[in-house]
Amino acid sequence: MALNKVILFVIDGMDTVNFTMAHAPVMSGIHGKTAVGVAHTEIIGAGTVLTPIAHAMMGTGSPDVVAARPGFETEGKCYNYYGEVVETIGDVAREAGLSRVAVGKNEAAIVLGGTGNLTRSYLELDGIDPSDEEVMTQEILDAFYQMDKGILVATYGGVDFTGHRKNLPRLIEAVEKADSIVGVLLKEADLEETLLIIAADHGTNPITGRHNTAPTPLCLMANNIAGRVNLGVVHNIEIATTIAGALEVQVPQRAVGRDLGELVHQLLAGEEVSLDYQLEMNRQLNAFFRKLPLRHKAEPELGGRNNEKER
Ligand SMILES: [Zn+2]
Repeated sequence: MALNKVILFVIDGMDTVNFTMAHAPVMSGIHGKTAVGVAHTEIIGAGTVLTPIAHAMMGTGSPDVVAARPGFETEGKCYNYYGEVVETIGDVAREAGLSRVAVGKNEAAIVLGGTGNLTRSYLELDGIDPSDEEVMTQEILDAFYQMDKGILVATYGGVDFTGHRKNLPRLIEAVEKADSIVGVLLKEADLEETLLIIAADHGTNPITGRHNTAPTPLCLMANNIAGRVNLGVVHNIEIATTIAGALEVQVPQRAVGRDLGELVHQLLAGEEVSLDYQLEMNRQLNAFFRKLPLRHKAEPELGGRNNEKER
């Protein structure tokens, strides 16, 4: 059954530790329409110039992608190691005639193929404060109501912002504010036709003030999910395939991983399925990497300034 809309709500910096310190009943699944998993995500590179690797993974479903933070000079397209643009779920949605809407932190646009591929934009670039939960709630709702059929990606900044400032009490508060945003979305979005995905790009440790490699929560909410389904260990890379499955559109060209919506169905039907994401992912990744030339043998056409400098 195809849904009309997917909301991907990314809570920047919310790892499983930050999550469990706060009172977050909505994300914990108190309403009984939730599937939860513990996600592997951005492992290396958090905090570097090419920081939004996790957003690039979520959009492309591809392991070897990077993207620069969208700003006035960069759109935030996803590139592979060879400097080629990689297809995102936003590109697939465009081809299928669906809306692509990004709200909050500029990184949100990366999932959808960059700021140049959006039908509506409610980003920092447009003057929005992504750490203000009232602003975020309002903008997400506004964007959601305007959207007929398509994908809305929103990235909330409050947890990451307070984590970098080593402000533990405010970080806990920010997680709770994020939970209340999810509560509003749950109430306003018709879950008969909407899949709500809650994820995080990486953790931000409020003791060190730095990004970390801790796993992050991943929740799916929809009306066809009954009770609280345990997805086990998942990977944020599987988000692209999951969105494609919900909207019944093509999976992005290089996407690997499972359709987590499909996994929920299998679990609810009592089918015997392995919850080890690595088995399926390793199979797909091996096939994926076998097709690629070795990096040092490839001759990339990067064409960028950095490339010129090296020669
Ligand atoms: Zn950060």
